[in-house]
Amino acid sequence: SSFEEAKLPDEVLQCCKSFSKPSPIQSHAWPYLLDGRDFIGIAATGSGKTLAFGIPALMHIRHSVNQKTTRRVNPLCLVLSPTRELAQQFGIPPLSSCFDAAEKMIADVLYKAGKSCGARSVCLYGGTSKKPQISALKAGVDIVIGTPGRLKDLMRMGCCRLQEVSYVVLDEADRMLDMGFEPQVRSILSQTCSVRQLVMFSATWPPSVHQLAQEFMDPNPVKV
Ligand code: AMP
Repeated sequence: SSFEEAKLPDEVLQCCKSFSKPSPIQSHAWPYLLDGRDFIGIAATGSGKTLAFGIPALMHIRHSVNQKTTRRVNPLCLVLSPTRELAQQFGIPPLSSCFDAAEKMIADVLYKAGKSCGARSVCLYGGTSKKPQISALKAGVDIVIGTPGRLKDLMRMGCCRLQEVSYVVLDEADRMLDMGFEPQVRSILSQTCSVRQLVMFSATWPPSVHQLAQEFMDPNPVKV
């Protein structure tokens, strides 16, 4: 129930500086996510879920950044999100002019947090030119935040390889499936590393989401 209890390095907790304590979903999720467990969080927007999965993503990167001296080419973490607005909450897009002020503030905070840990992120979404997104990918990224459609396009073009992705977040899983992205989500998941941690956040728990969890998660995921 306090940030000290979470025992996270200062540079990772930078982005929580202005908060007095972890939100309930954060204090419930962090111990399990940092322990590498598959995790299902039933949580709405506004609960602090972005940092509930975002801080463990930075820790995931941090461990391997520390181990490696060479620059990584392929991403280690993937956050799939149904809309461009949601994707931007967790990353820095190639064109910062795409932001409105509120989104930019959130992205800046997480961008800085990522920077202080040596993690690089890119935000991939449709409705805009692929070129800057491709250049960002070519420069090397640790975290990809993307919408399923654009990510699939860039994968098909050979611009984004997911075989090293070992931490995957499906944000707003119910909405992503409602929007018809199930085939893309399945195909994307199947191209990530076979040894991976899968995290799902969903506002509701319909049979379609349950089915996806059963197929792609460990037999006993934590459900909060
Ligand atoms: P989210 O549910 O991730 O969309 O977050 C909703 C809002 O809660 C965001 O504006 C965050 O900046 C804020 N927030 C995240 N974590 C905390 C916290 N521990 N205490 C207070 N506010 C927070």
